Amino acid sequence: MTNYISLLKNNDLKATIQRTSILKTIDHAGHINIDDIYDSVKEQYPTLSLATIYKNIIVMQENNVIIEVPLNGEKSKYELKKEEHMHLICEVCGEIKDTQITPATKEALVIENFRLKASQINLFGLCEKCQNA
Ligand SMILES: [Zn+2]
Ligand SMILES: [Zn+2]
Repeated sequence: MTNYISLLKNNDLKATIQRTSILKTIDHAGHINIDDIYDSVKEQYPTLSLATIYKNIIVMQENNVIIEVPLNGEKSKYELKKEEHMHLICEVCGEIKDTQITPATKEALVIENFRLKASQINLFGLCEKCQNA
């Protein structure tokens, strides 16, 4: 299990109960938007406001603890920062699946005169379930 307290401290953030609770929620869900994070955290901490959660998400994003996955015409989802991977995003049900970056894809990202520091590869389509529906 992820140790959320050291995850925060290792990234120069104070480990507050709000932050560990947000991280736990994100970790459980895999990829989750702010409304669903709010619903889940609120169950435990009814006094927490959406604004507070939003502020904490921004700070944790800036400090590389979580990553935003931008979606077409929908609220972004968030995930814990983990090893580089690609996203297979279903346009029908919204499911996001992590998949490994293939060596060929990695090679394609080596671009002349450009030093790549970060990338996010999001592929949009239909998941297996929705293909068969
Ligand atoms: Zn789907
Ligand atoms: Zn992911």
